[in-house]
Order: sequence, then C-alpha cells, then structure tokens
Amino acid sequence: MKYDVTIVGAGPAGSTAAKYLAERGLKTLLLDKETFPRDKPCGGGLPIRVLQRFPYVVNENIIESYSSSGTTFSPSLRYRVEAQTTTPLIATVLRRTFDAALVKCATDAGAVFQAHTPVSAIHITDEIAQVMTKQGETVESDVIIGADGVSSIVAKKSGLQKTGIEKGVCLMQEFHVPEPTMDEYFKSSRHCYVHSRFKTLTGYGWVFPKKEHLNIGFGVIQAFKQDQNHKVNLREAYKEYIAFLQETNLVPKNLQDAPLKGGALPTHPLEHTYADRLLLVGDAAGFINPLSGEGIYYAMVSGEIAAGVIAEAFQKRQFGREFLSRYQTRWQKEFGRDIDLISAVVKRNTTQRAEQVLKIASTDPILTNLIIRVITGELSVQEYKWKIIRRYFISSLKYRFHRTKDVP
Ligand SMILES: Cc1cc2nc3c(=O)[nH]c(=O)nc-3n(C[C@H](O)[C@H](O)[C@H](O)COP(=O)(O)OP(=O)(O)OC[C@H]3O[C@@H](n4cnc5c(N)ncnc54)[C@H](O)[C@@H]3O)c2cc1C
Repeated sequence: MKYDVTIVGAGPAGSTAAKYLAERGLKTLLLDKETFPRDKPCGGGLPIRVLQRFPYVVNENIIESYSSSGTTFSPSLRYRVEAQTTTPLIATVLRRTFDAALVKCATDAGAVFQAHTPVSAIHITDEIAQVMTKQGETVESDVIIGADGVSSIVAKKSGLQKTGIEKGVCLMQEFHVPEPTMDEYFKSSRHCYVHSRFKTLTGYGWVFPKKEHLNIGFGVIQAFKQDQNHKVNLREAYKEYIAFLQETNLVPKNLQDAPLKGGALPTHPLEHTYADRLLLVGDAAGFINPLSGEGIYYAMVSGEIAAGVIAEAFQKRQFGREFLSRYQTRWQKEFGRDIDLISAVVKRNTTQRAEQVLKIASTDPILTNLIIRVITGELSVQEYKWKIIRRYFISSLKYRFHRTKDVP
C-alpha cells in the first residue's frame, strides 16, 4: 500500500506530525522500532507552554503532576535560588504513558501505526520516497518525515546529518515512591531541585518529583564550555549525586532500586532540516534547549509545523527541497532564534559565571522570576533578553553596594 506520508519514529515529534497530517485527510503511516507503550530516558518535565499549545494533552491520565516550586543551587552549593509560584512551573509525565497517549491521538485522527518496525534505509527519487525496514519491507510514500530521535537513521541516510556531531549525555533513574512519602518530601507543590554544574560538571543534576515517582538525573551537555581538562566518569559522578541528595535529606534514603538509564541529546539544530521529499523533526533535527536539555516542546511544535508544510505541498503537488524549505523558515521564526541566543550564552558559560549569576539571582526575586519564565519558555528570549540583562546589572550593583556597606 502507498501512503501520502511515512513518519519514522513515534516519539512526541512523530506522533504530533501524524495527528495533524491525518486530521488534514492525508494517508499517514507512523512507524516505530519499539512496541508501545515503551519507555524513553527522560526527566519527563513538560514546560507549561506544551499544555498551552497542545491542550489535548491536559488529561489526568497523561499528566502525572504539576510542580509550582523549586530550588536551584549554585555550583559551590553556597547560593540557592528559590522559586514559588501560584501557577505550575512545569507539568510532569511518565514517558511510557505520555508517548503512548500521543500515538493514540494520532491513530484516533486516522493515522496508521505500525510498531516493532525498525527502519534501516531510505531511498528518494524524483517520483517517490521509500522507507526500507529491517524486516525487508519497502514502504512507498510521497514524503518521509524523520522523527527517529537523536541517533536518527533518516538524518544520516539522507546526508543531512554528518557523522561525528556533538551529543550531550545523561544518566537517570525513575524510582517508584509511595505517594505519602512524596508528599512528605516534596509537598503538594512537588518541589523540584536543580544543581547547576554539580562538581563542576558541564551540565546539571535534577530531581523531578511526580505523583508517585521520583525522577533523578544528571546531564553533561557537551556544548557547554569545559572548565576542566579532566575526563568525567559519568557513572561515578551520578552515584555521588544520589549520595549527596540522600545525605542532605533532599530525597528519601530508602529508594527502591530502579534501572539506571543513559540517554543522549542533540546539542544544536542541523544546518538543513529538509531535502527533496523529506523533513526532519524533533531530536532528529537537533532541536533542544541547549541550557536545560528540554526538547519535548520543540519536538511537538516542529511536528506540527512539518504537518502544515506537507499539507501545503500536497495542495500544490510540490515535494522538492525548494518548496519544503519553508519548513526551516517557519521553525527558525518560531523557536530557532531563541535556541541560537541561548546557545550563544551557553557557549560563554563557565562554572564561575554560573556561580555569579545564581549568587545575584538569589538576592533578587524579580530577576529569578524573569530567568525562570524565559528558561521554561513562558517568555521569549528575544523579547526579554535586554530586560534580563538590565535587571542583572541593577541587581549586581545593589549586591556590590550592600557588600561594601557591610565591610567595617
Ligand atoms: C536523560 C534525558 C532527560 C530529558 N529530560 C527532558 C525533560 O525533562 N523535558 C523535555 O522536554 N525534554 C527532555 N529530554 C529531551 C527529550 O527526551 C527529547 O527532546 C524528546 O524525546 C524528542 O522527541 P522525538 O520525538 O524527537 O524523539 P524520541 O522521543 O527520541 O522518539 C524517537 C522515536 O523513534 C524511534 N526510532 C528510532 N530509530 C528508529 C528506527 N531506525 N526505526 C523506527 N523507529 C525508530 C524510537 O524508538 C523512538 O520511539 C531529555 C532527554 C534525555 C536523554
């Protein structure tokens, strides 16, 4: 059978694209190498803008919990920035449940889902786009969407991703913890913790409490400028992090064992995310917040944009790269410039700078609020960058002035 569009990968990017394509009446096939529900190494933290943009995910069977407070520690652990809001800062999900629910949204809209189908190659001609599976099947369609994550076969086989690109790496565990214990430790606000550059690693540690799960992770985002010339043993550093959290009583001491999982993250968007009869979305295209490592929002938005562009391509019967390049123009306008700006900041970041920024923010709730709302995507980086910079300088001056007054 021939489809209009074949989507490789049924994570948030692929399922979102499938839902919007099927809703537009296009014959859509969604393939994944796994059988669903499947897990995916992830913090499962959803910025609230995901819920605002895709209100169909606001469902108690999909969202585990909401967090409305959190503490970020500076690298030396001397300074802490507290955030407490009346509305949620983030929602949390279990990826196993969330991703399966998004696939169901796609199939409810009319997409065909085929699990346990690893794709091994693609072939594109002027007339057709073909996807070859490891089982030896060839699927034909007019367009392919590569939504197959950070190690995308589609990105590599199409030549859009060159070899040896930088990736971030994380380790994480998701512990089952009874709800009363979660309430005792993390309160009803499900208080989150972030440890910036713990032990000077170029990344951060996180504690995301959910309803009755505790997600703890540790990420080294390699695009961060390295402070030290030593090789990091991530597994050892992660163990130290868990021990530290337990010693300082931030998390329960008697956590039941949970599998330790590793995951990779892209560090920046690919130069080109389109080719003849082909678009890349989500991690496959390199869409990630280079500061927080958050990617679900970009995955879903890029899936939605891709579906819109492909629907237009069908109306005009234009599947060439020139026409499909409008996809890149659109995502760049929506979130690409924000990613570029955050990248520019991240590349200049050092442990000392992170310490300094968190020191100043710890004295100024207005600055804290601005930074958090920009990091969670509630405010646009482009629109608010000067406001943040201005506020930061005012707070730094105030801090210096107070310190000078303190000196006898
Ligand atoms: C440890 C860790 C923590 C993270 N925490 C957060 C967080 O808290 N919040 C957040 O927003 N983001 C987080 N991220 C990033 C987030 O997980 C990704 O940005 C997001 O999953 C990208 O979605 P996607 O649909 O592009 O890819 P994926 O979710 O990776 O989905 C890709 C799909 O493609 C399938 N696939 C792969 N290869 C093939 C193939 N050859 N054939 C067929 N199918 C294939 C896979 O089975 C998978 O189902 C985290 C990432 C990591 C590694």
